[in-house]
Amino acid sequence: MHIALIDVDGHNFPNLALMKIARFYKTMGTSVSWYTPWEHYDIVYMSKVFTFTPDYLQCIPNADLVERGGTGYKLYDKNLPDEIDKMQPDYTIYPNLVDAKSAYGFLTRGCIRNCKWCIVPTKEGSLRPYMDIEEIAIEGRNKITLMDNNILASEYGLMQIEKIIKLGLRVDFNQSLDCRLVTPEIAQTLVKVKWLKYIRFACDTSAQLPYLFRTCDLLYKYGYKGDVYINVLLTDDIKETLHRINAIRSYTDLKMSPFAQPYLDFTGKRQPPQWQKDMARWCNRKELFRSTEFVDFRPRKNEICSQYL
Ligand code: SF4
Repeated sequence: MHIALIDVDGHNFPNLALMKIARFYKTMGTSVSWYTPWEHYDIVYMSKVFTFTPDYLQCIPNADLVERGGTGYKLYDKNLPDEIDKMQPDYTIYPNLVDAKSAYGFLTRGCIRNCKWCIVPTKEGSLRPYMDIEEIAIEGRNKITLMDNNILASEYGLMQIEKIIKLGLRVDFNQSLDCRLVTPEIAQTLVKVKWLKYIRFACDTSAQLPYLFRTCDLLYKYGYKGDVYINVLLTDDIKETLHRINAIRSYTDLKMSPFAQPYLDFTGKRQPPQWQKDMARWCNRKELFRSTEFVDFRPRKNEICSQYL
C-alpha cells in the first residue's frame, strides 16, 4: 500500500492532520510520502487549513482514492477518523519546519462563545477536553505550540496549564487567550508559565478593552516580564477599529504589541479593503506605530490615511 500527502496550503506551517495520517499509516508499515505525479497511490490525502490559500487544481489520475479535508475546503463535518485523530503527529514529514524540540497540538477543542466572524463554533462545537499535554510533549519535545481556541474557559484546560508549569514546558497559545476570563488567580497562574515568545490575547471588539487592560495590569502586577501580544481583528467598522487600536496605543507601555489582522471571511474570496491593509501596515510596523498617528500615516505618495475617515 502506498499513501501520498498534499499540504495544499504550502509547507509554511506544519499540518497536524497530515502528520497524524503519516504516523497512522507508518505505524502499520505502510509507505507514506509527499505526492508526485509519477507514482501510483492507493490513497492521496489533501489537506487545506486556510481559506485564503489557493487550491491544488491539478487533477490526480494516479490514485485509487483522493481524500480532501480541512477548513480550507469548508468540509466542517468531515473529521479524521478517531483511530487517526488520536495518533501523535509524525513530525519527520516537515524536517525543515519542525525542529526536534517542537511539538504542536490541542488540549481542548471548541469554544464557549459564538463570535459571528469565527468558524470555530460551526466547525468544532462546544468546548471540551481533547488531549493531555503529555500526549503532545512527546519524544523530549519541550517547545509546544498549542492551538486551543479558548482554553481559559475550561476547568480541564486550566488544570493542563498547571501541568505545563510543573513540567517546565515552554508554550505558545497561538490562537490567543480570552482576556474576559482572566481572574487574579488565572493571572497568577499565567505568570508562572514559560512562554515560547510572549503571551497572546485577542481584542476583537471595543467591549473587550477594559478586560484587556485589567488583564495586562494583573500580569505585570504579578511579575510578568515579557511582551503582551494582542491580536486585533480589523472589522468593517473603521471608526470602531481605530478607536480600539488607539486605546491600546495610548494605554500601552512598550511591552504591549497589537498585531492587526484584516478580517478574512470563510469564502476565501473577500479581499480586505485598502484601509485595512494600510491600517495593518501602520499597526504592525512598530517604528511607525510608535511614532505616527494612523490619520497622519502616508502609505503611498500623495495619500494620507485621514482620507478614510
Ligand atoms: S472566542 Fe475566539 S474561538 Fe471562540 S468563537 Fe470567538 S473568535 Fe472564535
